[in-house]
Amino acid sequence: TISMLAIDAAGDMSGACTTSGLAFKMHGRVGDSPIIGAALFVDNEVGGACATGHGEFVMKTLGSFLVVELMRQGLSPEAACKTAVERIVKKYPNYREIQVGYLAMNKKGEYGSYSIHKGFSYAVHDGSGNRLISSGHHIQ
Ligand code: ASP
Repeated sequence: TISMLAIDAAGDMSGACTTSGLAFKMHGRVGDSPIIGAALFVDNEVGGACATGHGEFVMKTLGSFLVVELMRQGLSPEAACKTAVERIVKKYPNYREIQVGYLAMNKKGEYGSYSIHKGFSYAVHDGSGNRLISSGHHIQ
């Protein structure tokens, strides 16, 4: 999944999400990418969130919506992503077999991420160039 969050100079936010889907998926499977609130959610009053990984777990927890609602309650983007990952970890004992990573940005342009496994990275463009950030924040 390739997901993107953006904020402009006026503070207006948007997001996009695309995917080729999970490998070996069932014919006709609808993943989390086209489900608003699952792999992508943006509320221009609060911020945006997006996901990559095993979409079933993102869909079952409506993860990106959850991340945005947690930011609405005052959590930082990283803390909100962490809480959403912990929701999956708590509900699904087999979480070690899957990967889910969340990325979030709030109205101040602060961003953060969290994933189940290490190896989740993302790119940031802030007008001064592109940077690749390896998220050091994961469960395992
Ligand atoms: N989230 C996608 C899906 O479950 C997989 C991916 O990350 O590309 O379809």
